[in-house]
Amino acid sequence: MRIVLLGAPGAGKGTQAKKLIDKFAIPQISTGDILRKAVADGTSLGKEAKSYMDKGELVPDKVVIGLIQERLKQDDTKKGYILDGFPRNTAQAETLDKMLNDLVMPLDSALSIDVPKDDLMKRLTGRRTCKKCQQMYNVYFSPSKKDGVCDKCGGELFQRDDDKEETIKKRLDVYEAQTAPLIDYYKKKGMLKSISGTGSIDDIFRKVCAALGLK
Ligand code: AMP
Repeated sequence: MRIVLLGAPGAGKGTQAKKLIDKFAIPQISTGDILRKAVADGTSLGKEAKSYMDKGELVPDKVVIGLIQERLKQDDTKKGYILDGFPRNTAQAETLDKMLNDLVMPLDSALSIDVPKDDLMKRLTGRRTCKKCQQMYNVYFSPSKKDGVCDKCGGELFQRDDDKEETIKKRLDVYEAQTAPLIDYYKKKGMLKSISGTGSIDDIFRKVCAALGLK
């Protein structure tokens, strides 16, 4: 199972990817997570990426394509994977197709999670993540029991630097201009599945599984 998750920032790609990992034991490959780790570790890659991420812009293709190439070489991808946040524009999608065709391991589907624009802002400004286990919460819709503390592991919850209002607006604009055209890109290839991303996390997960033909 090789899947691309598409959807605006805040559509719930990361949340659904984590549920797919739990159920099907295949890795989630999130370029955003890889980049955030590089930033936290203070690597040269992280330093370069941070200036783009803080502005809500895309990190240059060369950098993220290099990251994906390295990641897809790892053994745990043999059984499949969920790409979350990659590709982000047509050039990345074309490079990915070429890379996977060379490996004779084409994608199975691209799943678009659709959420009305008005809902995205609240989802993003309210989003909190556990520093330790990456569990996600939302202060408006799914808060932790104790403010700022993870229910699962007791870790500290944090707000992503790029989940501040001004940066969010920019990220949504970048999504419309550069990433949304991928919906048509995969539709033309006959690979697109779409679901509505509103409702409870479990309801959406049922729709995800049904759309992907998973039981
Ligand atoms: P995400 O966690 O997917 O929302 O990504 C956070 C930020 O990381 C984005 O706003 C971009 O600056 C950067 N990023 C993540 N994935 C990509 C990608 N495929 N191409 C370019 N930049 C990316």
